[in-house]
Amino acid sequence: MAESTATTELWTNAPKTKPRDRDVMTAIKRGMLGCCPACGSGKMFRAFLKPVDNCAACGEDLSHQRADDLPAYLVIVIVGHIVVGGFMMTDLVWPMSNWAHLAIWSPLTLILALLMIQPIKGGVIGLQWAMRMHGFGGEEPEPEDKIASTPAVD
Ligand SMILES: [Zn+2]
Repeated sequence: MAESTATTELWTNAPKTKPRDRDVMTAIKRGMLGCCPACGSGKMFRAFLKPVDNCAACGEDLSHQRADDLPAYLVIVIVGHIVVGGFMMTDLVWPMSNWAHLAIWSPLTLILALLMIQPIKGGVIGLQWAMRMHGFGGEEPEPEDKIASTPAVD
């Protein structure tokens, strides 16, 4: 039986010391206002829906954000309730032609979606930052120490 020289390393994101808690509601509120979730003064977006890589004020790394499709899902749920509910309620009290409804609710849908998507994306990024998701924990993955290498079975 040959002696194994290879060591087994287990990689982990677990921080070595317990990090300070981040306030979730404050981070979401700052993100929805387009501000850095860490300091609240730097800007989160450099262009429409384009987050900065680092906060200009405090240097917080925001490149870890992965809001992905969640802001769009949330906008669809919110705008859908406003527009469909509004359409049904106005149709009950003030019946209009389908063309009149189309002329009112279609532009309103577009305007509401465009107004909401960036604040909601900011809120989602703030939530991810506060929950230390996707590398927002500030720790790079490191091998755990003292993981005994299991003896190789030949
Ligand atoms: Zn900042």
